[in-house]
Amino acid sequence: MNTEKTKIINLISNKNFESKITSKKLTERLTNEGYTVFDKYNGEAELNICVGGDGAFLRAVHRNRFPIIPFIGINTGHLGFFQEILPENIDEFVDNYIAGNYFVEEMSLVDAEIHTVSKTFYLTGVNEIVIKGIKSKVIHLEVNIDGNHLERFSGDGIIVSTPAGSTAYNFSSGGSIVYPSLNTLQITPLSPISSKVYRSLPNSAVIPGDLVITIKPEYRYANSTLLVNDGMEFKYDNINVINLQISDKKIYKLNFNKDMYWNNLRSKFL
Ligand code: NAP
Ligand code: MN
Repeated sequence: MNTEKTKIINLISNKNFESKITSKKLTERLTNEGYTVFDKYNGEAELNICVGGDGAFLRAVHRNRFPIIPFIGINTGHLGFFQEILPENIDEFVDNYIAGNYFVEEMSLVDAEIHTVSKTFYLTGVNEIVIKGIKSKVIHLEVNIDGNHLERFSGDGIIVSTPAGSTAYNFSSGGSIVYPSLNTLQITPLSPISSKVYRSLPNSAVIPGDLVITIKPEYRYANSTLLVNDGMEFKYDNINVINLQISDKKIYKLNFNKDMYWNNLRSKFL
């Protein structure tokens, strides 16, 4: 009797033409290698392969609630910063995976606790959680770090990004690139107003991830504050205060080469 457990791989793909072709090729190859390939998330799998762009990766992580099963991405999207494998290299990828030529890297996530007058809500983000105003209004926020008052912010909003998210919205807004294994968060202003009336920090700040960032909308903004988690909007009534911190949850990614991050960065940004 064969008691060996079947080896399962999840292949989570978006519906683009190129993704479908790539997924078909991968499924054939992995099946030949003795894997059972699921086209939906299966909790018994040893690996999640995500085919698509960064949006596909972000959706796969959120929909499956930050699984501990590691991810690898195959880029059929526009940028695909999280998607380090190119479709033409899938055979090389499978060879290296089977040979165990990789290590697993942790990626930290950002948690937000949104305290409203009646209830507390929770969000976890991979790239960032943005606090901004509804209807394109200037928003006024009190920002504290670990109980220390930092500023009374006025402007479009504030991005709180993870290291992995530092190359996304944060980067376009003048924030710095932060190496993904660092345990930090970055607070980046969106069009901060610095005038005789308002004074907000013009640049981003990188802080230890275990410090609590407290953002309090001024009273009249309690009902006009919007939270945007990895591009998804959330609106709450009567917000008192929002606490943000590095999450206890982590997600995991395969890394096939110690230079992968820098090669990826160069090829996608320069
Ligand atoms: P999207 O509108 O397709 O994303 C905007 C761009 O950001 C896409 O080119 C996407 O890559 C890229 N991207 C996503 N995560 C990245 C990362 N960690 N590093 C570098 N680039 C990254 O929407 P989406 O695909 O659902 O992604 C949501 C993200 O968009 C948000 O988390 C936010 O960071 C970003 N965003 C950026 C701006 C801005 O730069 N002004 C504004 C709003 C939102 P793909 O083409 O591979 O999808
Ligand atoms: Mn996208």
